[in-house]
Amino acid sequence: SKDFMFSFYLVRRRSNIVKEMEKMKNKREEKRAQISEIRTKRAQEFDSSCPNSEFGRMIKEFRATLDCQPLSITDPIEEHRICVCVRKRPLNKQEVLKKEVDVITIPSKCVLLVHEPKQKVDLTKYLETQAFRFDFSFDEMASNEMVYRFTARPLVQTIFEGGKATCFAYGQTGSGKTHTMGGDFLGRAQNASKGIYAFASQDVFLLLNQPRYRSQDLEVYVTFFEIYNGKVFDLLNKKAKLRVLEDGKQQVQVVGLQERQVSCAEDVIRMIEMGSACRTSGQTFANASSSRSHACFQIILRRRGKMLGKFSLVDLAGNERGADTSSADRQTRMEGAEINKSLLALKECIRALGQNKSHTPFRESKLTQVLRDSFIGTNSRTCMIAMISPGMSSCEYTLNTLRYADRVKELSPHNGGGETQNHMEIENEETEISGESSTLQHNLSKDEEEDMSPHMFNFREAVTQIGEREEKVVEQLRELRQVGRMTTELDYLLGITEQPDYDLETFVSRAKYFVEESSRNFLSVRGMLMFLEIVPTQEFLNSTVTNLFLFS
Ligand code: ADP
Ligand code: MG
Repeated sequence: SKDFMFSFYLVRRRSNIVKEMEKMKNKREEKRAQISEIRTKRAQEFDSSCPNSEFGRMIKEFRATLDCQPLSITDPIEEHRICVCVRKRPLNKQEVLKKEVDVITIPSKCVLLVHEPKQKVDLTKYLETQAFRFDFSFDEMASNEMVYRFTARPLVQTIFEGGKATCFAYGQTGSGKTHTMGGDFLGRAQNASKGIYAFASQDVFLLLNQPRYRSQDLEVYVTFFEIYNGKVFDLLNKKAKLRVLEDGKQQVQVVGLQERQVSCAEDVIRMIEMGSACRTSGQTFANASSSRSHACFQIILRRRGKMLGKFSLVDLAGNERGADTSSADRQTRMEGAEINKSLLALKECIRALGQNKSHTPFRESKLTQVLRDSFIGTNSRTCMIAMISPGMSSCEYTLNTLRYADRVKELSPHNGGGETQNHMEIENEETEISGESSTLQHNLSKDEEEDMSPHMFNFREAVTQIGEREEKVVEQLRELRQVGRMTTELDYLLGITEQPDYDLETFVSRAKYFVEESSRNFLSVRGMLMFLEIVPTQEFLNSTVTNLFLFS
């Protein structure tokens, strides 16, 4: 029985072992099923055929650790002399189809994070998260109304107080500048009543009808023009080319620019529609033309003819164009150089405004020249909205846009000085948010000298000279066309020779003077033409522009 007992024990033991092993096996299988389920789930979310799915997953995990508190409509509206904001648009249909990864996170009303995909030498993928801080950050859920409320709206009052206001939409082509300024799109048609131009106009009329302004004989006018390649075209007058003149008192005037009087918001919307249609006419794609030009919509307040205030709202040329100088096509190269120059000049003019500098480098570009009166004056305020595309493939341009916007603001006394402490706190906060993987965007106080490196100086100088000489040539040819003067003199000279007893000496000296003066005029045009022929060579612009874009 002892044996029996023993064998019984063995059987039991064996069966226990078998059971145990089966249990373990089941557990393993369960776990395997779980893992495979997670894998399928992940694959569904981030198609593993998409090479960036790994980054997408990392970003999602990162976001899960954040408690995002975006800007709310009830947040207080702040008053800034210079306000710099950023707006992220949603991924569009094509980007979603292409499985683009959204690399932008907006954790709070001021902060924006860029998750830059990186790879170590051993091919391990990792994210480098950079944090930026602005006056406001708008995420993809923000409407045009919301963006308006915190950016341009606080500036409307300024023009009733005799001041100047400007608002700029800056960014890469396709990032949402026109959508924000001109109105959102319903399919292909733009809804002009839902953009910042229209919202600002509505508020102008709202204020105008308040008791304190109603009795003031105020009139509202609008202008709408485009600056393309340093030339001004009137969008309310069939794209007529306009001349910009500066008088002895440095007053800049756009000759012949149509100012249309408007008496209600509906009038303004009609003007916006008219100008926008004019801007894109003859173009297959709206962006083909608009990405290369700055569009400026102005609301002008006059009292019995005299200007009281002016609000300029500018939809800037795509900033990637500034780097687009590798093209073999001379026209494209020149366009790129001109855009680059105007965006750099704009940044400096805004910074000069922030620092209350007496010298504003407005002459560097047509854009800043035309807006000169808005950059000077004690009651001038500005706002810049940096637009960004959220996709990973736009990452590099997005970082360029953010760095530019960062530089616009950093030296403003309203940002530094008394608020330094505040800034430090925010940096700590950011560190907490983004943890170790975050590289903070340090606001290096680069000074003016760095901006004006010899490289950049030469480049800007040259592009400025090209523009100036081009204008000069046109001016000179225009003078030469005043045939009246020349033929009158020729008629007179020939008339002398018809006289039977004409004085040869008088004739010769007068004819000589005429011929010499005319030759001088012609030779001067020739010189200008030769300069224009030689200077914009490929090497010249390539060597300077590409590097310079990174400076901004
Ligand atoms: P840009 O003027 O900067 O070149 P657009 O304003 O033309 O860019 O925008 C490019 C596309 O993205 C348009 O189809 C536009 O409707 C869309 N878009 C831009 N911003 C938004 C947004 N905030 N919400 C939805 N769609 C947007
Ligand atoms: Mg546009």
